[in-house]
Amino acid sequence: MSIDLRSDTVTKPSTGMRDAMAAATVGDDVYGEDPTINSLEVRVAGLFGKEAGLFTPTGSMANQLGIRLLVNPGEELLAEEDAHVVRAELGAAAAHGGITTRTWYAERGQLDALAPLRMARPDAGPYLVSTKAIAVEDTHNFGGGTVQEIAQIKALHEGAREMGLALHLDGARIWNAHVATGTPLHEYGKYFDTISVCLSKGLGAPVGSVLLSTGENIKKARVWRKRLGGGMRQVGVLGAACHYALDHNISRLGDDHKNAKILAEVIHKALTSSVNPVNVRSNIVGLILRDTDLTAAELAAEARKAGVLISALGPRYARLVTHLDVSEAEVRQAAEIIAGIVGR
Ligand SMILES: *Cc1c(COP(=O)(O)O)cnc(C)c1O
Repeated sequence: MSIDLRSDTVTKPSTGMRDAMAAATVGDDVYGEDPTINSLEVRVAGLFGKEAGLFTPTGSMANQLGIRLLVNPGEELLAEEDAHVVRAELGAAAAHGGITTRTWYAERGQLDALAPLRMARPDAGPYLVSTKAIAVEDTHNFGGGTVQEIAQIKALHEGAREMGLALHLDGARIWNAHVATGTPLHEYGKYFDTISVCLSKGLGAPVGSVLLSTGENIKKARVWRKRLGGGMRQVGVLGAACHYALDHNISRLGDDHKNAKILAEVIHKALTSSVNPVNVRSNIVGLILRDTDLTAAELAAEARKAGVLISALGPRYARLVTHLDVSEAEVRQAAEIIAGIVGR
C-alpha cells in the first residue's frame, strides 16, 4: 500500500460516513424536495452567515456559478495568476460565461490587497474592459496551502466596496484557513459576495461543494446549475456524507497541518531551498526543486517506486498534501523517503 500524498481529494468515505449515506432521507432535489440537501444548504449558509446555499457536484461548478453571478459576458474578473479559477477550471469563465480575466502575481499566492485594487478598472467606458469582481483563494492551493491574512481580506473588501467591485472567495479549503487562523467562518462570510466551499477535500466527503450568497443570487445560480446539467435528483446520499464531514472532520484538520509541518521540516533539512517550514501553515507542502538536478516528475517517479505518491505540478514544482487517510507515522515515513531522494 502506497502512502498517497497527491491530494486531499483521494480520501475515501469512512465506515461512519458510509452508514450516514446509506441512512440518508432523500427526495428529488430538482423539485427542491431532498431534505438532506435542503438542510445542508441551510447549514453551510448559516456557518458563514450567508442567506442561502446551493449544493454542486464540484468546486469548479460552485466557483463558476459564483463568478457568473458577479460578472457579465464581456466583463472582467481579476485573480492571482496561480488561482484555481484561472489555471485549473479549463477556461470555464470564458467558455461558459464570456468572462475575461486579468491576473496579478503574488509570491506563494499571498494576498496583498493593493495588487488587485491597483489593476481594477470599474466602469472603464466604451473602449476598455470593465472590472466587475476580484477572486481570492484561501487557502491558496498552488501557492502551497498559503493562508491569507484576514487584515488583507478586510482591506480588499473596503477597497473593493469603494470602487463598486464584488468579491468571490474560492474557499475550497477555507476550513483549513479557519482552523489555521482561528478566524470564525462567519467572518469570511462578511467580506465576500459569493463563496464556494468544498466538502470533498480535507473534510473527506466523496463528492460535494456548496455555493453561498444572497437568497436572490442563489435562486439565479440554481437556474444556471440546471442549465449546465448540474441538477441532481436523490442527491441526499451525498449530502449525508457532507453533513457527516461537517460533524466530524473540521477540527481534526489541525492534525493534517501538524503533519504537513513535519514533512516540510524533514525535507527542508535534506534540501534547504525546497521549502521553508515557516510558510507551511495548512495541509499543503509545495516543493521548489531549484538546487537539484531532479525534476518534479523524476522525484514523483522515484517516490512512487519507494511507496509514496506525490504530484508533479510543474517542471520544478512538486506538491504533497496531508489528509485524514494518512497517519502521522505514515507521514514521517514518507518524509524520510522524500528527504532521502532530494538529499542524494
Ligand atoms: C479542488 C479545488 C477546487 C474545486 O475543484 P473540483 O475538483 O472542481 O471540486 C477549487 N478551488 C481550489 C483552490 C481547489 O483546490
